[in-house]
Amino acid sequence: MKPIRSSAGKYLIVVSLILAIFGITAVVLVNFSNLPLLKSVKKIVQVQYDYANLDSCIFKLYNAENNCRMYMVSRDRNYYNQFVKEIKEISFIMDTIKQKNQSEHTFLSEDFYGLIKQKKLRTNQFIKLKNLCDSLINFTVKVNQGEEKYHPETKLFTMRQFKNITRIDTIKPGITAHQKKRFLKRVLAAINGETSKEAGKAKPTLIKTTISADTSSINVAYNKLQLNSINDYYLRLYRVNNKLKNKEKQLLNVNHRLISNIVSGLRKYKAIEKKYYASLQQLSDKTTLGAVENLDRFAKVLLALAVGLLAFVFYMIYHFYKNEKVLIENSNKTASYALSKSRFLANMSHEIRTPLNSIVGFSEQLTQIDLNVEQREQVVAIRNSSIMLLEVVNDILDFSKYETGKVVLEEVPFSPYTAIKDVFDSMSIQAAKKKISFYLQMSVDQDIYILGDPLRLKQVVMNLLSNAIKFTLKGSVTLSAELTLPNRNLAKLKVNIIDTGLGIKLIDQGIIFDEFAQVYYASTKERQQGTGLGLAICKKIVEFQGGTISVKSTVGEGSVFSFELSYQTTEKPTSVQIPISVLCNETSVLIGKRILLADDNMLNILLASTILKKYNIAYDPVYNGEEAYELFLEKEYDLILTDIQMPKMGGIELTQKIRNISDAKKQSIPILGVTANVLQEDRQKYLASGMNELVLKPFLEHDLLEKILKYIR
Ligand code: ADP
Repeated sequence: MKPIRSSAGKYLIVVSLILAIFGITAVVLVNFSNLPLLKSVKKIVQVQYDYANLDSCIFKLYNAENNCRMYMVSRDRNYYNQFVKEIKEISFIMDTIKQKNQSEHTFLSEDFYGLIKQKKLRTNQFIKLKNLCDSLINFTVKVNQGEEKYHPETKLFTMRQFKNITRIDTIKPGITAHQKKRFLKRVLAAINGETSKEAGKAKPTLIKTTISADTSSINVAYNKLQLNSINDYYLRLYRVNNKLKNKEKQLLNVNHRLISNIVSGLRKYKAIEKKYYASLQQLSDKTTLGAVENLDRFAKVLLALAVGLLAFVFYMIYHFYKNEKVLIENSNKTASYALSKSRFLANMSHEIRTPLNSIVGFSEQLTQIDLNVEQREQVVAIRNSSIMLLEVVNDILDFSKYETGKVVLEEVPFSPYTAIKDVFDSMSIQAAKKKISFYLQMSVDQDIYILGDPLRLKQVVMNLLSNAIKFTLKGSVTLSAELTLPNRNLAKLKVNIIDTGLGIKLIDQGIIFDEFAQVYYASTKERQQGTGLGLAICKKIVEFQGGTISVKSTVGEGSVFSFELSYQTTEKPTSVQIPISVLCNETSVLIGKRILLADDNMLNILLASTILKKYNIAYDPVYNGEEAYELFLEKEYDLILTDIQMPKMGGIELTQKIRNISDAKKQSIPILGVTANVLQEDRQKYLASGMNELVLKPFLEHDLLEKILKYIR
């Protein structure tokens, strides 16, 4: 199979392409936000806004002028207020335009504001004068309307005529009624010499005695006085009027200048704005064109990159698809290999362990009969070899169970003290044989019980201890165990196995927990025994329970293997396993009991029967399930010991049939299944068929006896 190449390079290309596209997009976006095109558009909009303002300014100016003139004519204060308001608004608009365009160009000279100020001042002055003039004219009108009684000096202008010289005893001046003639006409008449005519028409008041006297000189003086007063008055009026006219002229001049200044200023500004607008448009045309061209270029680059990315993505997808197909095929193959492996292991467990069962069992039986020394040695050798072979098979099976995850740990209450002490005791013979000191340092409370798998714990400790003894030539091996209780429910077990053996090189310390790893020791002449699976299994067991395992070692000084496991604390269990020593005293109850022995393997039957015979248990051997069932129906038995895999009818079928018969006593007979299959799910399947318990092949005498005793009492 072609190995799948690392695709990091391809991913790098995809990532760089994506980054490039994003980078370019970001640059385009940033540039667009600062494009002069947008600035120009903003300015054009501003210019158009200024135009509108200028137009409204001119309109307001005409309105203000109109209001000013209307006020002069009508004297209606509203016109004046309107005028002031409009002038203010014009100033405001001009200010705004000036402020906005300060950075661009200034078009309004300070004269303009001066003119507006002047306009205000002159208008006020003109209004004052107009008022004054009006008051004078009003006064004249009032005089003509006979309101002279309020002005005592007007009596001077009363006209009197003396035609005869009369002796007067008493003269009472009479009040002459004013002719209702306009003052101006009268003045004109006086100027034209119509005075005597007018005077002649007046009727003097004569009192009784008439005297003759010449009064002409008095009259002349009097008339002169009157004329002088009139002249003065008109002179003043004329002057005021002249002044008023001057002011009006000035005002009109200022007005004219102001208007023409503003209008020309505005025109100028409009022209400048137009020019500026045109230049802006030109610039914006240019920038727009440039921006569009740039955009076009960017778009092309982006498109090229996107096409490249797309092509690459499709290429990658195609490759992923191809690789995935290969991967799926491979994983299917692996799954089927794993299945075949587990099937092979299951078969092997049956095929190897069954003959091994016989070898171990018979060699055990053989050691109990009288043999000469040579024979005994050979039997012991056979037994030891078969036990070793059994260990190897067990190791391989055990490890493969962890490999395939088919491990179900037991959760039973047990005493960690007892479990560890048992292992220590069982190993002490080995240590004694090698003449090395063997110490136990226990800091574990004997009364504490924990929930867990005692066999797995024992297995780990036993493995580590046997290694320590195996690789220590002199000195000591120490088993130290400490149990701490961080809280009421939790117990932490820390175990150290310390030896003064060969030690392990640092480089080897990293691999010894791998399967089939063995370190080569040049110093040891002995050929290394074992499969190299012991530590791998220990690691699997510890890690499977959430613990840690480690090693510290110095070559030539020794090693320390440590592991830590956490357990839940529990109460002391009520039913305690029966020790083997006790079993022997209880076997008397088995005498005369009847057992139905069903197994297709002659050797197994032979082995089992050898044990049963020893304890005077009667048995009937049968070689398949059918025969067993028939015999069971025929005879009475206390227990059935049956193999699982048998011809015609297997142990499971046999059990199910028995459990389904109507006879309640027969139906409840204890059935022990004998199997070499160690897989947990298979064991559960057997128990589910109705078997009371399983006896694992290869079994030792006390294993079988213990199970039988449990059900026959
Ligand atoms: P084996 O079944 O071969 O002992 P293990 O997995 O138990 O396999 O051990 C792997 C290797 O680690 C051993 O072959 C040995 O070289 C080394 N080893 C294990 N324990 C010790 C120890 N206490 N001292 C020195 N070497 C050890």
